[in-house]
Amino acid sequence: MRPGRSSVTPLGRRYSAPSYAVDMPQRFALMITPVDAADARDDYSDTFTPMDVEAPALSVGEFSTQRGDGVFESIGVIDGHANEVEAHVRRLAHSAEICDLPAPNLEQWRQAVATAARLVPAGEAVVKLILSRGVEHGPAPTAWATASRAPDFTAVRRDGVRVVTLDRGYDLDAAQRAPWLLLGAKTLSYAVNMAALREAHRRGADDAVFVTPDGHVLEAPTASLILRIGDEFVTPAPAGGILHGTTQLSVYEHLESRGFRTRYATLTASELTTADAAWLVSSIRLAVAITAVDGAPLASDPALTAEMNAFLRSPR
Ligand code: PLP
Repeated sequence: MRPGRSSVTPLGRRYSAPSYAVDMPQRFALMITPVDAADARDDYSDTFTPMDVEAPALSVGEFSTQRGDGVFESIGVIDGHANEVEAHVRRLAHSAEICDLPAPNLEQWRQAVATAARLVPAGEAVVKLILSRGVEHGPAPTAWATASRAPDFTAVRRDGVRVVTLDRGYDLDAAQRAPWLLLGAKTLSYAVNMAALREAHRRGADDAVFVTPDGHVLEAPTASLILRIGDEFVTPAPAGGILHGTTQLSVYEHLESRGFRTRYATLTASELTTADAAWLVSSIRLAVAITAVDGAPLASDPALTAEMNAFLRSPR
């Protein structure tokens, strides 16, 4: 059951985003003055300030830049339609809760997404939402949204990725035992995730899959993992301190509508290497097949990958 699915608020139902520019810019930034979660109004546009993306916008005292102290979301936009907005704003709120940040006003963030999504050109784009701890001795929290064109992922969606498994150093119980590690929150501190990608490249691979010290698979540095084992699709349970991916939820919804069985499980690295197929899925790159694990080839299913991406590219 997907969280919050029943309470989806269609974007733009009570609000239509203003058009700030006649010529659509390639990049767009909007500062957001966060309002209380309980604030209820129809139109939050006066809490948004469009920014010049070339001009400085943040204080040097920003905790997001000093400490990576904040949370974020990256939302895929296709031809002006932002996908899975409800799941993303709810995960932003969940991450904020884990990090003891003030609860975001969900409707304000929905409207920020709508505003940003309407201001990027047709094609694939990404809207990022950032909620930061704020400024030392200054206003808190700080919030902004950006929109820009997405990279062209056509080739990797077709050809897939070779992955290496990398030890993340935390066991499956770490999230419960040590909540201050903020596992399961999408925090701005992605330096470790980026280091894992560099290590994967050093080892001749394209991407990484994090594993626990005792060999359970978790997620990729910027994507969720889905395995096909026989006619069943399996993904690591998000309780293990990994992000609950919005794309994985979407893919499951599609697979279930096609009659496939899906489930969450504790999975070992050897189940990845012996899977019938495996994918990394995420909001912007969408579904890419894993074609090799630690140098050993893995079977892939190009037709199903293409089908998943056709579904993921449709308005959701
Ligand atoms: N896991 C991690 C660590 C991520 O950074 C991401 C996305 O950036 C995901 C999983 C996939 O999440 P989503 O499908 O919501 O993009």
